[in-house]
Amino acid sequence: MNPFAIRLLVAAALVLSVATACRRDGHPSDPRGRSGKPQILTTTGMLADLARNVAGPNLQVTALMGSGVDPHLYKASAGDVSRLARADLILYNGLHLEARMADILGDGRLREKSVPVGERLERERLLVAESDGKTYDPHFWFDATLWLDAARVVRDEMSRRFPQQAAEFETNTARYVAELESLDREVRKRIEAIPEPQRVLITAHDAFRYFGRAYGIEVRGLQGISTASEAGTADVENLAAFIVSRRIPALFVESSVPPRTIEAVQQAVRAKGFDVRLGGELYSDSLGDAGTPEGTYIGMMRHNVSVIVAGLSPADLATTAAEAAP
Ligand SMILES: [Zn+2]
Repeated sequence: MNPFAIRLLVAAALVLSVATACRRDGHPSDPRGRSGKPQILTTTGMLADLARNVAGPNLQVTALMGSGVDPHLYKASAGDVSRLARADLILYNGLHLEARMADILGDGRLREKSVPVGERLERERLLVAESDGKTYDPHFWFDATLWLDAARVVRDEMSRRFPQQAAEFETNTARYVAELESLDREVRKRIEAIPEPQRVLITAHDAFRYFGRAYGIEVRGLQGISTASEAGTADVENLAAFIVSRRIPALFVESSVPPRTIEAVQQAVRAKGFDVRLGGELYSDSLGDAGTPEGTYIGMMRHNVSVIVAGLSPADLATTAAEAAP
């Protein structure tokens, strides 16, 4: 690069940093971290990925919970509490997903800057929990059309708080919504390719009811919609009997739930003289590692669909489908 270009870049960087320093949106006392950008803190990795897609490079987005962390059981550490206090905007799932953080997020000092994204969605589109018939199932991200509604909620919040960048948030969101609509069509098509009698998804906890409703697959979880309650022997036996009667070929392990619960079901099925295999690991309540395809929402959905299709399609049918593909 020639010296003139370097001087130009330095000048541009200076202008940018001055501009950022001026855009403090009336919170001059808030420390902005080393990047100088407004700090967005999310609970889950899914929300961090969503926020990054909406914000672009304008805002610094960080998730509290890493890969494999179970949000139902997560408790904020002392370090988390001070990060939450420093953040300019907090995005959380709500609908009781972060059950052990309710006190902190509902705290008076944090409430003004905290947004429970799931609770801003249209109530008619949410599923009511089967366990009590009152509370809402928090796992709405597994319906890509609800996730794109969530992107619009985040866009509106960011635009309200950082109005200078509203036009950019709008452009970013439109692009991301188009990607999610395409993902939605792709997932539906791939699930439809599984032979109908095998279209049953069995996992450790009931995280996939939205997925089942959106993409036409029957869903059974061993535990309820939270991982906080242990499954009992009767639950294991009932599920095992169901698997044998329907001759379900595979069960699925979840990345944020220990595999022993689903292994207990496998053993109970074997005791009844039927063999069911473990179909692979699904991401349920957390994304994969940062920097891998599964570290994004779209990559995580694609991974899950591939694992489900491979686990539930009989080998000969899968081969026939591959041969028939153009
Ligand atoms: Zn869950």
